[in-house]
Amino acid sequence: MKTDVVVIGGGVIGLSIAYNLAKLGVKCAVFEKGYLGNGSTFRCATGIRAQFTDEANIKLMKYSVERWKKLSEELEYDVNFKQTGYLFLATSEEEIEAFKRNIALQNKFGVPTRLITPEEAKEIVPPLNTEPFLGGAWNPEDGKANPFKTVFAYAEKAKELGAEIYEYTPVEDIIVEDGSVKGVKTSKGIIKADVVVNAANSWAPLINEMAGLDRDFIPIKAYKHQLIKTEPLAPGQIEPLVCPPAWNDSYVIQDGEDGGVICGSGIESVPKNLDDVSPTYDFMRGVLRWATQIVPALKYVHVLRQWAGFYAKTPDSNPAIGKINHLEGFYIAAGFSGHGFMMAPAVGEAMAELIAKGKSKVPLDWEWYDPHRFERGELRSSAFQIG
Ligand code: FAD
Repeated sequence: MKTDVVVIGGGVIGLSIAYNLAKLGVKCAVFEKGYLGNGSTFRCATGIRAQFTDEANIKLMKYSVERWKKLSEELEYDVNFKQTGYLFLATSEEEIEAFKRNIALQNKFGVPTRLITPEEAKEIVPPLNTEPFLGGAWNPEDGKANPFKTVFAYAEKAKELGAEIYEYTPVEDIIVEDGSVKGVKTSKGIIKADVVVNAANSWAPLINEMAGLDRDFIPIKAYKHQLIKTEPLAPGQIEPLVCPPAWNDSYVIQDGEDGGVICGSGIESVPKNLDDVSPTYDFMRGVLRWATQIVPALKYVHVLRQWAGFYAKTPDSNPAIGKINHLEGFYIAAGFSGHGFMMAPAVGEAMAELIAKGKSKVPLDWEWYDPHRFERGELRSSAFQIG
């Protein structure tokens, strides 16, 4: 079998790349070792925000939000994108000052974040405990979407446009000849291609190794992150993602129509291996300690579900996106460090254009996300990580 581009990884990033390639008329095939979305994507907290603290991520996410707005129409399937905002809450004057600096930077690039009082925050989130908070950074244009529907929509539209998608088909090796990729060996046979994209996120170092590169030349490490979901509160009470960063990046959000509340936190651990997605009791205790202080009503509902997934983290919490110069035809978009779901529409489009045309109109700062920065010992300022 032969195709033009092989994409390794059927998460939201690999599928967005495949959809955008197919839209440009490029023949491509996605190989996923399990079912689509089973990596980090189906385990995420649904959040989408342009409230970052550096120019590159703000600009990329401002654009990605514009793409999210049109995604349901474009993919002809409702991915439940809603601009319900992100509300960051400050517990000290120092944080208020930091919020003001971030807001000024975000406003400079057209993101309409503003500082609000605890009273205004309570109007937006009625069950909020305002007592510990001095104010909030509020961007009503941030939002959320359904990861299951997003994956389904990208996959279906990509297939309709001619992409081939193979589930339960691990890539076992990358075929390299004279410094160029020539295809991949999968559990179902060899597929020839002159371009291979590593979109395997937590597993990306293993794919780099298959290409004959040092496993850690892009140092991506998986960290276990977890979520719980509670019995319903009245729907519509916690529409934005609400987070006091000083409380270990803990957050609460009602993700769907059912009123259940997702609670997350910066509590993280190193998994035993890349199959270890077992939830822990310590996380449940830790996250509830913070969540019930943000919204005290959560003390009176039960936890219905708990699950774990990976943040595929780089040393500066920014992804590695672009061409890998050591090998002709080899590209990467991985190491999303907890914010890959929100970036998928912009990154998929940028990567597809880079592969098909050698450049992209997407405002993605290739230098900032350069996969080779780690080899050069260059780190970016750490990207704001919370979901
Ligand atoms: P993945 O979804 O992990 O996809 C990679 C795929 O590669 C996997 O499906 C894997 O099976 C496949 N693969 C690996 N090796 C092979 C192989 N050899 N052959 C074939 N396939 C292979 N992000 C946000 O933007 N907003 C949030 O609110 C948010 N909250 C989060 C909360 C939690 C608890 C977690 C765990 C993550 C959260 N994230 C969030 C991060 C987000 O989930 C990821 O950044 C995003 O899903 C990355 O997508 P991906 O396609 O790069 O990776």
